[in-house]
Amino acid sequence: MITKEQVLDALRSVMDPELHRNIVELGMVREVQIVGKTINVTIALTVATCPLQDQIAQDVGRVVDALGDDLEVRVALTAMTEEEKAHLREVLQAGKQQGSGFPAANLNRIKAVVAVMSGKGGVGKSTVAAMLAVGLRRADLRVGVLDADITGPSIPKLLGVAEPPLSSPLGIMPPTTATGIKIMSINLMLEREEDAVIWRGPLIAGAIQQFWNDVFWGDLDILVVDMPPGTSDAALTVMQALPLTGIVLVTSPQDLAEMVVRKAANMAGHMNTPLIGVVENMSYVICPDCNARFELFGKGKSEEMARAFGTAFLGKIGIDSRMTQLGDAGHIEAYENDEFAPLVAAVQAVVAAAPAPDSH
Ligand code: ADP
Repeated sequence: MITKEQVLDALRSVMDPELHRNIVELGMVREVQIVGKTINVTIALTVATCPLQDQIAQDVGRVVDALGDDLEVRVALTAMTEEEKAHLREVLQAGKQQGSGFPAANLNRIKAVVAVMSGKGGVGKSTVAAMLAVGLRRADLRVGVLDADITGPSIPKLLGVAEPPLSSPLGIMPPTTATGIKIMSINLMLEREEDAVIWRGPLIAGAIQQFWNDVFWGDLDILVVDMPPGTSDAALTVMQALPLTGIVLVTSPQDLAEMVVRKAANMAGHMNTPLIGVVENMSYVICPDCNARFELFGKGKSEEMARAFGTAFLGKIGIDSRMTQLGDAGHIEAYENDEFAPLVAAVQAVVAAAPAPDSH
């Protein structure tokens, strides 16, 4: 069984004839798909009518074909986007002057960074962060998600992304979901899920900093950050590593809402960052037979508390098995639920009010 890593290794021997670097390093390998004995490789070229495209396609076909007997190798050629090309040019020039180091930090232009936090684990913070990203993408914003919650691979799983990020001269390239959301997660960099253990502690903040500096996000309207659960040190350390525009708090009716909202408001104050609002998840369930609405955990106090602490209440979200099913299957992007509309609208307003970004 051929692995994607083997294919990428083989492709590292294919040089771009003009740029004199290998096509993996240049970020030209868009996709490698392995279905049984069939290997589909998509190469993004710097120029659509690149005169040397036949040579690249042949070289790719040859090195992948050599990986095993009876392989069917299909090479598709596509063009880099204007944005990718402009950045690639900049980088290749910058590389000549400055030598080493990823230039991503000089190239990224991110308008707003919004952190999604919770008082404790399991209240649906990652799901809400994913649905926020999905809603903003549906509104045609350019969206990235930075998964800073190392307690589980929720974000890649919910959004159906599993491939490890590729490296390019621009920086680490975040994988993209079906609808075009860019994702970066420590969990995508680990060979085994259990390896997350070694990331506990201050290492996480270092990794988040690296995701900020070394990942080539390009031009984004919004980067949604899925925070570690809780309002304690881990969350604060991650927040301090990023220039946040605002914070969203996810609660559940089981929370001691006053304490959770107070802590979140304190943290936001400490960071000098506005608390955009509070969303209460798992607020109720609708009986599939009689349509009656049950507040299983009692009436939540989140709304009252949000108002008491002077922040917006952005709605109650019910328990919906379709959300769990689509999330588990990696298809949360197909999920529709109007209950997320106030949250999406509030964050959209924050993005609209943010100043045009400089590269950072
Ligand atoms: P957290 O990030 O707070 O730990 P997750 O987003 O990973 O929580 O959610 C925990 C579990 O609860 C997941 O299986 C998710 O699909 C499910 N879930 C979250 N919110 C809802 C909801 N409103 N309805 C149904 N299932 C939900």
